[in-house]
Amino acid sequence: MTRVAFIGLGNMGGGMAANQAKAGREVMAFDLSAAALDKAVGAGCGKAASVAEAVKSADAVITMLPAGPHVRSVYAEQILPNAPKSALLVDCSTIDVESARAVASQAKAAGFRFADAPVSGGTAAADAGTLAFMVGCDEADFAAVEEVIKPMSRATIRAGDHGAGQAAKICNNMVLGISMIGVCEALALAEKLGLDPVKFHEISSQSSGQCWSLTSYCPWPGPVPTAPSNRNYEGGFATGMMLKDLKLAQEAAAKAGAATPLGATAEGLYALFDRLGGGGKDFSAILEMLRGNTPQA
Ligand code: NAD
Repeated sequence: MTRVAFIGLGNMGGGMAANQAKAGREVMAFDLSAAALDKAVGAGCGKAASVAEAVKSADAVITMLPAGPHVRSVYAEQILPNAPKSALLVDCSTIDVESARAVASQAKAAGFRFADAPVSGGTAAADAGTLAFMVGCDEADFAAVEEVIKPMSRATIRAGDHGAGQAAKICNNMVLGISMIGVCEALALAEKLGLDPVKFHEISSQSSGQCWSLTSYCPWPGPVPTAPSNRNYEGGFATGMMLKDLKLAQEAAAKAGAATPLGATAEGLYALFDRLGGGGKDFSAILEMLRGNTPQA
């Protein structure tokens, strides 16, 4: 049986760790939050008292932490000094490319195999085991990474070498952030023009305006029953998280000398919505700001 150490059991990691346990793997879990850890234990994971204890006899270590600084410190101070060198290290958090490459080179220098493997799909897909993974790793390690990821995934694609998974994630979420604002602006304009936004959804879904933000995650309540717009924009992918990813894209663009003017504008609009109190709402709630409304508690 594969022994998996799972570190970071929040909105995403909780469901992902549960799917590892469901697949029959022996999961040793750890989170700083006792409530998150207890929930994982209830889902079939073993309880570790520290990261060091969780990783000490692991075949694979999976991390799902908030941001780059968490990943850097957990790897440098706890995982690399305590995991067996044979353990495959897989970081699924969304972090900056530079941190991913720095952790990869420290891990490699210490004799480990490492992959950055951020995910797309949100909490529903984390619970269902249907996330998409974009992986940055040595080509020779990809089959082993795919095997570790399997119980959590519907698609696993190797993007390239270390850091390429994070690059793919940042670029994907920049598309998503921009396209959501485009869809919201069009819905708000349709409303002002006296066109029923639900009718506009039906038409544009079958026209050249079709995109994921419109047809799978419609920000206007009604047309897509599973979308957060139908539950007052609760759950889903928080505006604060989208803002973090757009900031990562802007930082990466500035360092690489890439022109991303729409990404910059999207970051500014989500930052404004965050300032207005929308940070905890699903990112599609930016529709309300574009309609001239303030976020509802
Ligand atoms: P979260 O805040 O719910 O979970 C993070 C967990 O990490 C928390 O439970 C926290 O206690 C734990 N943690 C922090 N520092 C720790 C440490 N030193 N040791 C052990 N545990 C520690 O966040 P989330 O929504 O699960 O997101 C996790 C990552 O996944 C983020 O990088 C996010 O950008 C990315 N992501 C989130 C979504 C989404 O829809 N929520 C979708 C795709 C990707």
